[in-house]
Amino acid sequence: MKAFKSLITALALGAVVLVQPAAAQDKGTIAISMPTKSSSRWISDGNSMVKFFKEKGYKTDLQYAEDDIPNQLAQIENMITKGSKVLVIAAIDGTTLSDALQKAADKGIKVIAYDRLIRGSKNVDYYATFDNFQVGVLQAGYIEQALSLKSAKGPFKIELFGGSPDDNNAFFFYDGAMSVLKPYIDSGKLVVGSKQVGMDKVSTLRWDGAVAQARMDNLLSAYYTSGRVDAVLSPYDGLSIGIISSLKGVGYGTPKQPMPVVTGQDAEIPSVKSILAKEQTSTVFKDTRELAKVTVGMVDAMLSGKTVPINDTKTYNNGVKVVPSYLLKPVSVDASNWKQTLVGSGYYTENQIK
Ligand code: BGC
Repeated sequence: MKAFKSLITALALGAVVLVQPAAAQDKGTIAISMPTKSSSRWISDGNSMVKFFKEKGYKTDLQYAEDDIPNQLAQIENMITKGSKVLVIAAIDGTTLSDALQKAADKGIKVIAYDRLIRGSKNVDYYATFDNFQVGVLQAGYIEQALSLKSAKGPFKIELFGGSPDDNNAFFFYDGAMSVLKPYIDSGKLVVGSKQVGMDKVSTLRWDGAVAQARMDNLLSAYYTSGRVDAVLSPYDGLSIGIISSLKGVGYGTPKQPMPVVTGQDAEIPSVKSILAKEQTSTVFKDTRELAKVTVGMVDAMLSGKTVPINDTKTYNNGVKVVPSYLLKPVSVDASNWKQTLVGSGYYTENQIK
């Protein structure tokens, strides 16, 4: 009662000091350039970063470039002009940003390559990503296990899909996968029906599901009119969806003609649903909240003169220098562990999937 009375007195005297929450502190603006909203993972990445930057007292300028290179360049130039403190960039084409990044460096703006390495520029300060080679190892490891390649006699037929050739990650995914598959291809236990092997033959520009679907249509009609395809290495859920519609179009997905093993990446909701419907077989979950957290930690450390957290100083040479990196762990997901991995971690609610 006494406390209440003194509060009333204080209010009457106008003596209450409003305590500002920490988030209202202004530590400047961090620019975030994302490739596209057409895939939900990048939307999660952007939203998580905005949230975590805000909690640390930063403003954000988040832009999506809809997979258009000139658009992303214009957005980044604008971010530099507006005087952002740091640029966090997930590049569409990791080789096209050198001039813009030079302008940024001239103004003392630091740059973090987010998820995708920016190539050909010395003005990339840090790189935050997942262990991209391991993503490919997990995808191919899943095929190895599902077809019991270690013990079965085979031969099994497989087709390979790669990601976008302007995305450095696509080569890491492919190389990681081939580190598992190549011995089986060499021994003849796995046969690539089309003989299309190598990123120059199997890549998918801009990670476009329609492009993958059209290629799968061609492969099926040229090489699989007799005999089935047992596995398809797909590096990304958006491609898997296209590949699966192509397979369904020629009758796969029935008890007589079951789906081949089809991999994926990003654990996007349509693909998790597809796994539960026994169409796609597996995906690779990369917790974008964790990547956002690491990135925000890097930026905050950089701007406050603290040691920037990194755990890899060897792997990511961008053609000019090895970019100090922080690599997070990807996780393989299938029908047996989706709930504990995706719902248990709070990434999705069960209602979003079922
Ligand atoms: C990302 C993947 C994503 C792909 C297509 C890659 O750079 O690492 O997570 O599946 O781009 O968006």
